[in-house]
Amino acid sequence: MRNIAKSSYSECEEPVPVSELRQYHFCPRVVYYHVLGVKEVEKEYMKAGKEKQEEIWSRERRRKTLAGLRRLKVDERVSGLYMTSWRLCLAGTLDLAVRMGKEWAVVEVKGSRRPKDVPIGHRVQGAAYSMLLEERMGTLTRRFFLLYEDELVEVPMTREIRDHTMWTVKQVLRIYRGKIPRIRRTKKCSSCGYEAYCWF
Ligand code: SF4
Repeated sequence: MRNIAKSSYSECEEPVPVSELRQYHFCPRVVYYHVLGVKEVEKEYMKAGKEKQEEIWSRERRRKTLAGLRRLKVDERVSGLYMTSWRLCLAGTLDLAVRMGKEWAVVEVKGSRRPKDVPIGHRVQGAAYSMLLEERMGTLTRRFFLLYEDELVEVPMTREIRDHTMWTVKQVLRIYRGKIPRIRRTKKCSSCGYEAYCWF
């Protein structure tokens, strides 16, 4: 049995994967399918996204600046770091964190072009990794980056995004404990890997 005595997050029985927060914002029903162990059907655009992500990632690894921007000189890179926190009730493996001078910041690599409006799921995901990194490094972060195919987006670590991230953790935990989200048809359904289970 896991020792949760040190946790300040008394409701945490098992840390929530950071990726689950993004999925929750895509559609809460997806989290429910994960609970059931239903396998996602991989769509063509998902495969293409993974390949694009790898391409962006290998380009980024060779650079001395973030996304080739001279004002963002990188002094140190950390990638593939697994972090877990019972206090935050979160766990996940970081794409990339960079140190620029004394500042550490998370970089979340996306295998797509920047959507017109940056989805809340992407912002929550970046904030969740940032909060895990803060705990690991013992320092506060003031921003994180979403690296899309065509643009680097900087997102400030505001109180609002922190609170919204922890709110999302609570919503995911409610589904883990038995809440069943409703099926709701939206324009996202056609791109969802669980479409066949909702609309057969
Ligand atoms: S098909 Fe639609 S309702 Fe069903 S999980 Fe996917 S997005 Fe949600």
